[in-house]
Amino acid sequence: WAGLLYGSGGRGIPAPQQGSALVPRRVLHPGMFSVLAPPVWQGCESRCWSLPAGVGMRLQEGPGLLTFSYIVLLARVGERVAGSMRKTLFASLLRQDVAFFDANRTGQLVNRLTTDIQEFKSSFKLVISQGLRSVTQIVGCFASLYLLSPKLTGLLLVVMPSLVGAGALIGSVLRSLSRQAQEQVAKATGVADEALGNVRTVRAFAMEDREVALYCHEVDRSSWLNEKLGMGIAVFQGLSNVVLNCIVLGTIFVGGSLMAGEELSPGDLMSFMVASQTVQRASGSPTSSLSPQVVRGLSAGARVFEFMTLEPTVSLSGGDQIPSHSLLGHICFRDVCFSYPTRPGCPVLRNFSLTLPPRKTVAIVGESGGGKSTVAALLERFYEPTQGAITLDGCELCTLDPSWLRGQVIGFISQEPALFGTSILENIRFGKPDASDAEVYAAAQLANADSFIRSFPQGYGTIVGERGVMLSGGQKQRVAIARALLKNPSVLILDEATSALDTESEQLVQEALERAMAGRTVLVIAHRLSTIQCADLIVVLARGCVAEAGTHAELLRRGGLYAELVRRQATEQP
Ligand code: ADP
Repeated sequence: WAGLLYGSGGRGIPAPQQGSALVPRRVLHPGMFSVLAPPVWQGCESRCWSLPAGVGMRLQEGPGLLTFSYIVLLARVGERVAGSMRKTLFASLLRQDVAFFDANRTGQLVNRLTTDIQEFKSSFKLVISQGLRSVTQIVGCFASLYLLSPKLTGLLLVVMPSLVGAGALIGSVLRSLSRQAQEQVAKATGVADEALGNVRTVRAFAMEDREVALYCHEVDRSSWLNEKLGMGIAVFQGLSNVVLNCIVLGTIFVGGSLMAGEELSPGDLMSFMVASQTVQRASGSPTSSLSPQVVRGLSAGARVFEFMTLEPTVSLSGGDQIPSHSLLGHICFRDVCFSYPTRPGCPVLRNFSLTLPPRKTVAIVGESGGGKSTVAALLERFYEPTQGAITLDGCELCTLDPSWLRGQVIGFISQEPALFGTSILENIRFGKPDASDAEVYAAAQLANADSFIRSFPQGYGTIVGERGVMLSGGQKQRVAIARALLKNPSVLILDEATSALDTESEQLVQEALERAMAGRTVLVIAHRLSTIQCADLIVVLARGCVAEAGTHAELLRRGGLYAELVRRQATEQP
């Protein structure tokens, strides 16, 4: 059509006749029009169309407008598909169990959100834009083939299934290769992400060259895998060309004998050859399931869908809630056994039992690696116990709504508080998104943070930098305390909250913590024993179960593990 229309502008095609309809004068083979370029038309008076006045001009605008609409539509569809995939994948990732994040590195997850979706989008657009044309060409040409010679077409159909089968087999091998290559790219991204995220540690250990070498190694491996994939595709396409040429030769051979038997005319054999070439071209187009882009797009899509459809074992919400007026904060661990999902053979807690009475402070002490933080993680329902039960006011945690439990009941302050790269105000408000400014200021005052925040030129609007790098350890910790206090939790977990601080900061933070602990059930995981001497109950954890329990004075009197820990710390820190 384009050749016909553009040719009408004075390339030897007769001018359209006034008022006449679109009438073919003499048509040899309508299909031939699309392949004839305008110069071929010059002088070919036998094949032309008469157009009504002005139609030529109007139709010339047509393809431009269609191209414009088609590109706009394609971009719109592609971006919408990619955008909704990104949103769904991100939401699905944030819903996953904590154990999922133990097993998958952040960089690899980010890679799925970015590179994999990009790859999928590119091949999706390609398939939409060209796939439709290829499919219609194949279907149309098969119909022509059948009309030209049912016998020859039947023969082709006998050969095709084995070729399609072989193609599918090779396709699955290539897709698995492509998946390996993409996983390797994600691994390289993971290395870069870790090095950039921990740039201070890398700098402090002068490990820049080693990190670069590590990254280069991973990138080289991904290039190697991609080259291997390219080679696989090249071998396949080379082989398929040979096979297709054999089919052409076979068609000539069988067609020749049909011609000899006067079952087929030479013209029909030629048309058959042309149509089968079109089928060959269409099936070998970039949208073929074995073209590099489609192979990569398919495996990238599979990687994305794998996480998009993954269901967490503990859903984020759903379950019972205890009305706030009757919530006491009485917590019981009953014969809890636990091993991390990533290390199923290594029990961390063995028949661990502990009661946290309402509004009392219980401290857990013990050797590093003894399972203290694991107790806190189980109370937050980051993991589920392998055996036994944990109850809050007599209700098993697994029957309670996790988002209510984490969002309103439990406040968690860890050793290394993670802040977001926004303002201090927004960081504190993370604890309760609907809190007023006045509530935020009150929480900051309670956390001993208000005065240092106001001393900054931008006050509460101060941006804290990525993960809070622009604040000192003690300041970060006090912002984190304010954040936890904003939701006024009934239960507070302090996981070695002061162990990473210097003495001065520790005092300020300790003061804030003591104020925060009043009137709440508190579980303190302590490293420095001096901070928990006033606890109502001290529990010594050894090999995953309670070895000793009592007050500071009782345990000292007993002269067991706790007394030994106190003695050891006293000699370490005179
Ligand atoms: P503590 O707080 O007493 O120092 P933890 O509770 O952090 O000890 O760790 C107890 C044990 O569990 C350790 O052996 C540690 O290596 C292991 N562990 C901790 N966290 C994980 C995890 N996310 N995945 C697998 N093992 C873990």
